[in-house]
Parts: sequence; structure tokens; C-alpha cells
Amino acid sequence: MKKETRPDWQPLEEAVPIDVFHAEVWAWAKRLSVTECVREIHLRPMKRKWASCSSRGRLTFDTNLLRQPAEFRREVIVHELLHLKVPNHGKVFKALLNAYLASAETASLTKQEKPTDIVSKS
Ligand SMILES: [Zn+2]
Repeated sequence: MKKETRPDWQPLEEAVPIDVFHAEVWAWAKRLSVTECVREIHLRPMKRKWASCSSRGRLTFDTNLLRQPAEFRREVIVHELLHLKVPNHGKVFKALLNAYLASAETASLTKQEKPTDIVSKS
């Protein structure tokens, strides 16, 4: 995910602990049913991108992401994990990304468990 897509948000005062970030990634990997595909999660400073993923399931995130608001972290995490299902940025990718992010919004607003499988509802 390229850096131009970063919204104009202020960085957080305190970075999220790496453990918490890992937990977020795994929670989303479960939701997207890609836990089997995730092999490694790395954090390192990246210049041009917020994150990248290899087809072998190696995910790399920019360390600065730990200072970004939760909504933006979520977007980057879901974006990269979704590449394990859909390698390009085509229509299917965008539709799924929007659906997952929308489900997260709903879930956090109502404090309910995630809605039933959004993928199967075409
Ligand atoms: Zn991408």
C-alpha cells in the first residue's frame, strides 16, 4: 500500500505496542480466513509504502504505522491481508475491502460481534 494514500491525520502521541499491532493483524487474518497464508509479520521503516506482502505470506509494515490512528491501521492491515486472497487492486479487491471495513465500522459502533460472513452475500 503506497504512502500517497495516507489521510491527513495527526500521528498519535503514543505508538501502539508491537504486540497489540500483531494481535490486530491476527484478528483480521482470522476474519478474512487467511491465517493459514500468513507466515511472517515484520515491522521496519519503509519509505514509499505503508506495507507490503509477498505471495508467500510475508507481511511487512512500516514502523510508523504504530503511530497512526486505529482506523488507518485497520485499513492498511485489511488491505495487505486481502492481497493474500486477491493479488491485484481490481473490482473484487475493492468490493471486499469496502465490505470488510464497513463491517468493522458497524461492529465497533454497535459493539457486537462481527456480522455473519459478508463474503457469501454477493
Ligand atoms: Zn495493495
